[in-house]
Amino acid sequence: MLPLWLPPYDTVHAIQAGIHWDAICLPQQVGLATLAVLDITPPGPGPTIWDTRRDPRLYLLTPVTDRPDLTGTPGRHLTHGSHLAVPGPELLTPPGLHWIVPPTPDALNRLNDLATVVNAIRRALGASWVTHRIPGQPDREILATHSQIHGTACINCSTDGTTLRPAGHVYTPALGGCGYAVTACTPCLDGALQ
Ligand SMILES: [Zn+2]
Repeated sequence: MLPLWLPPYDTVHAIQAGIHWDAICLPQQVGLATLAVLDITPPGPGPTIWDTRRDPRLYLLTPVTDRPDLTGTPGRHLTHGSHLAVPGPELLTPPGLHWIVPPTPDALNRLNDLATVVNAIRRALGASWVTHRIPGQPDREILATHSQIHGTACINCSTDGTTLRPAGHVYTPALGGCGYAVTACTPCLDGALQ
């Protein structure tokens, strides 16, 4: 059973914010970087709309809440008094308005945790894309924070409260051929990075 606020099929309805959810609106570039951070932050991103039309933006749905602290970020909070164009469940691909992260079929009312989103925006703003290279493994493009690039936080999960061991290097266009030595925690070295 679909939530009552979700428009049917491939239609788009203007739905009032502040009733079933609020939304955090982000410019496309920051929004995509925020999603990349949420992708590696359990439980992962919740329902997110991508409007690829003129002035492209992402809208992350969050619980109805008091005003979140978005100072220093380009984020805008949409709540009572705002309407949001919401795509139906079949609109899953660009161009136009679609779900980049659709509502989860077995948890249709699950939303993004607000504090997690705000942290992810702040992290995305302080992070940059780098190429992570471990000998014998394929390169991967990752979003890394200052601490990760300088080896004081795990390059995979960003933890800094544990023993960190060498985990290859990261390269950015700005560094040319020189890389920074980076580190990873034991669970990441034993799992995802092996
Ligand atoms: Zn780790």
